[in-house]
Amino acid sequence: MSIDFSPLEVWFVTGSQHLYGPETLKQVDADSQQIVDGLNASGNLPVKVVFKPVLKTTEEVIKLLAEADTTSNCIGVVTWMHTFSPAKMWVRALSALKAPMCHLHTQFNRDIPWSSIDMDFMNLNQSAHGGREFGFICSRLRKRRKVVVGHWEDARVHGQLATWQRAAAAWHDSQNLKVARFGDNMRFVAVTEGDKVEAELKFGYSVNGYGLGDLVAVMNDVTDKEVDQLCKTYADEYELASGLETGGAKNDSLKTAAKIELAIRRFLEDGGFGAYTDTFENLTGLDQLPGIASQRLMADGYGFGAEGDWKHAALVRSMKVMAHGLSGGTSFMEDYTYHFDPNSPGVLGSHMLEICPSIANGKVKCEVHPLGIGGKADPVRLVFDAKAGPALNATVVDMGNRFRFVVNTVTSVTPPHDLPKLPVARALWEPHPDLPTAAAAWIHAGGAHHTGFSLDLTPEHLEDFADMAGIEFLLIDQDTKLRSFKQELLWNDAAYAH
Ligand code: MN
Repeated sequence: MSIDFSPLEVWFVTGSQHLYGPETLKQVDADSQQIVDGLNASGNLPVKVVFKPVLKTTEEVIKLLAEADTTSNCIGVVTWMHTFSPAKMWVRALSALKAPMCHLHTQFNRDIPWSSIDMDFMNLNQSAHGGREFGFICSRLRKRRKVVVGHWEDARVHGQLATWQRAAAAWHDSQNLKVARFGDNMRFVAVTEGDKVEAELKFGYSVNGYGLGDLVAVMNDVTDKEVDQLCKTYADEYELASGLETGGAKNDSLKTAAKIELAIRRFLEDGGFGAYTDTFENLTGLDQLPGIASQRLMADGYGFGAEGDWKHAALVRSMKVMAHGLSGGTSFMEDYTYHFDPNSPGVLGSHMLEICPSIANGKVKCEVHPLGIGGKADPVRLVFDAKAGPALNATVVDMGNRFRFVVNTVTSVTPPHDLPKLPVARALWEPHPDLPTAAAAWIHAGGAHHTGFSLDLTPEHLEDFADMAGIEFLLIDQDTKLRSFKQELLWNDAAYAH
């Protein structure tokens, strides 16, 4: 399922009323059109903004927002009150609206025209109080939405709109996302379990299981020619470890890995899946745990979760959509082991194999090593260090009565030493505000050991997405104090107790 923002639209909807007369409303339309043109011309927004004529009545609002919900490439609605728009005319339409909404609290002019301002100007430019009337009705309806405040030409405003657009694109994708599971969860593991019916209700995506035999049947149709071509791609794109090359002693391992990748890719393409899980405990018919296959499929935008972790497979897919076109990289991740040196405390993140090369810094090596668990043949994997820079880890867990998002901002750092014997891709990071606070907060929140790790996204992307899903969102960052965080958890239990 490739990711493409080009057909997507965000509708720009301006509220007003008939009170001001046709001349003023004509001006409102012209100003809205100019704002839309300005936003599109800024080059700062990844999704096209589409102008819609000013809304003056309850009936017009209902009709337009219903259209937004039924137009398949409309991923969200930006609302703006140029003038005062009595908000009872928005009640029914907003109650029914399913599409994500962003209230842009801006005004056409940036500055007050001190020497020329008169009552005509005041009648036309009423965003400051028109936006408050609109805000009241949204809050009265308990509508979760983004509110962006500032002048429409301000790059900071563009940044917030772009973030919301990326979250809305991921939300749009999530409504039709299909997650395939090869095998079940890793046996006895708690956090990878969850309510798949509730997940479809809250996130839109569907999760269904397939027998390994279904995948093996596809694999049996893979031709030797296809395998040879993919092995050549591996040799072209990565630094092959000695023995993996054609004619080498371990070339059969590479061929097997290529065959597995071709089979999974075909299975996902044929079934229209955007994410998948596997587990080392259910590999009947596969000679290796998919390593390089999962790594390369993630790099192509597929979501992946190991050990049957469908919630993080879907989350990684959504994060991939949010980060589309950005250059930092996003991967499935696991908090693996700690560095408790007081001078440079950190977390080494990795997995048995499946880390996405989109986060790789520099060269990517292709190697084969024993796995140590699962009792299968040695799997081929890509090995690299992650890039340094601002990053985050995100998790979604099922608390029984709700889904909970937890995000921790981190600084990804270059490992201070080579790790010559570590045969897996890895990232090293310093969590915010510090390792003891971050890890304690994460553990109090019940955050999973699996995460989506991204060098492209900010907490705001995930918070916007959580608001679209209507789920709980917890942030651990530089401002986190453990005591307040624990209180937030307690209060949220009360807030979600139904
Ligand atoms: Mn794991």
